[in-house]
Amino acid sequence: MKSGIKKVAVACNTCGADDAEFVTEGSEHEYTDTTDDVFTVVRCRACGLFYLNPRPDVSELKTIYPDSYYAYHLQKQAGTCENRRSPLYQARRFVYLSRLRKALRLCPDTVNPSVLDVGCADGRALNWYKQLPEIAVETYGVDFDEPAVARARQAGHRVFLGRFEEAEIPGEMFDLVVATHVIEHVADPKAFARKAFQVLKPGGIFLCETPNADAADARLFRNRHWGGYHFPRHWVLYTPQSLRRLAAEVGFEVVRLDFHPAPAFWNWTFHSLIGSLGPPGARGAMRHLADRLFPPVAFQENNLRNLLAVSLFTSVDLLIKAATGQTSNMAAVLRRPVYK
Ligand SMILES: [Zn+2]
Repeated sequence: MKSGIKKVAVACNTCGADDAEFVTEGSEHEYTDTTDDVFTVVRCRACGLFYLNPRPDVSELKTIYPDSYYAYHLQKQAGTCENRRSPLYQARRFVYLSRLRKALRLCPDTVNPSVLDVGCADGRALNWYKQLPEIAVETYGVDFDEPAVARARQAGHRVFLGRFEEAEIPGEMFDLVVATHVIEHVADPKAFARKAFQVLKPGGIFLCETPNADAADARLFRNRHWGGYHFPRHWVLYTPQSLRRLAAEVGFEVVRLDFHPAPAFWNWTFHSLIGSLGPPGARGAMRHLADRLFPPVAFQENNLRNLLAVSLFTSVDLLIKAATGQTSNMAAVLRRPVYK
């Protein structure tokens, strides 16, 4: 394992205050080849934003996103035929498309809407969007990974190369901008949200999915083990309240906040928890057990074992949602007002 990556101290990204309280600390547990460093989560006393401080420097992205990173893995396996027939893949596709349909109904153009997928990778979700039978979606993407962008373009999508915040994208172009679990990874999430505002048509919708640090499991495992920390890759974590604050700062109207199950977070929570148990000498064995029971990357594979685990964790989240109204996966439906 490597150690000592470059870090930067940061102030609150939403309100700019440099006055935060300690929440917890934690370290990488999902990958073995990134960093041994311990990272601290703080909470802004002024606006409630949770964030890593100091956080990794952007020059360390290659270190903290190894080649084995699960999202890259997801792209690779999506291409195989037997994978496309698997129940888990079909369930994921169904869930994505039903969320998209709901958002498209709110858009200025509901017949031929233009949709931008932020962090589109090789266009897996964009391919699904094209398959909606009742709507002709114009599919656009933006991503900084050149080989992935080339594959998405080959699949027939128009893709901007670069980081969303800096990419040259014409203003007021889209009916819908979708960013699924991206904003918590970026250095300047407020600039990210502003960019979404700029590229949306007036009345356009920004569908922004991100962890919810106020959920029951986030509170229960607040001290270190909550999977939503994803140390050290989640640099900001919102609550419903702090996400509303961000929306207001940028000029968005909050249409609604939805809460969806987050089975992967439960998997990461138990991986972190089990791996930390036992006397110091036995930690290696417990880490090994955690890798077998709650594999951080293989959890994304479409097989029977994962289907059962996803079903179980999803049921738990649906119970928590029934009891508390929230889960740890928050989907903000934001609108660029027509009058701005
Ligand atoms: Zn703040």
